[in-house]
Amino acid sequence: MENICKNLKKIKSEIESLNPDVKLMAVSKNFNLSVVKKAYECGQRIFGENRMQEAIAKIELAKQDNLDIQWHLIGHLQLNKAKKAAMYFDYIDSMDSLELADKLNNYAFSQNKIINIMLEVNIANDPKKFGFFKNDVLEATRSIVNLKNLKLHGLMCIGPQADEVEIRKAFRDMKSLFEDLKKSFCPDLAELSMGMSDDYKIAIQEGSTIIRIGRGIFGERT
Ligand SMILES: *Cc1c(COP(=O)(O)O)cnc(C)c1O
Repeated sequence: MENICKNLKKIKSEIESLNPDVKLMAVSKNFNLSVVKKAYECGQRIFGENRMQEAIAKIELAKQDNLDIQWHLIGHLQLNKAKKAAMYFDYIDSMDSLELADKLNNYAFSQNKIINIMLEVNIANDPKKFGFFKNDVLEATRSIVNLKNLKLHGLMCIGPQADEVEIRKAFRDMKSLFEDLKKSFCPDLAELSMGMSDDYKIAIQEGSTIIRIGRGIFGERT
């Protein structure tokens, strides 16, 4: 078993030295609630999940234990699961189509809640990835800000699997997109979610406000 507390501590001290304002999300996909609890006991409160079925089971159990966790959905959400997602998540960081935004907004309305969302950006135009293309983000944002039961609070991306130069360029492009949106019509945009186990230091240097770490905390997934 990985030493979860030790890993968390190490990452936090790196955050501290690079930019103390950066938040840490623990990505607990493929790990069960007892593993989540270990991180929780070490003070971790923000968790990310990428599959609905698995996430819901964990969230239910965590609720029974009265754990005070902020759960983020960070994986692609199918339209037919939007209703459930609206029930279980207050944060959906993988908003990747206008159709999904519209559906979620309707479900959030009928459940009388506000859901915080991030737009996922396919920053390096990878055909295998989800998310809005960079050139479509402005347009998408214009319609999403009109959906009253969604609160757009950030942008998210997965860095390319490439060399450092390309990764850095992708993160830099995200940062400038983020700043452009803030200047134009999203002054409240707060989060730039980028950086995972292999590239979080670069992401922080390029302006990430929240990093999403799985393997670096919990060890390799099986
Ligand atoms: C799995 C996953 C992560 C964490 O990846 P690691 O490489 O284990 O740190 C972060 N973001 C998303 C969207 C993921 O699916």
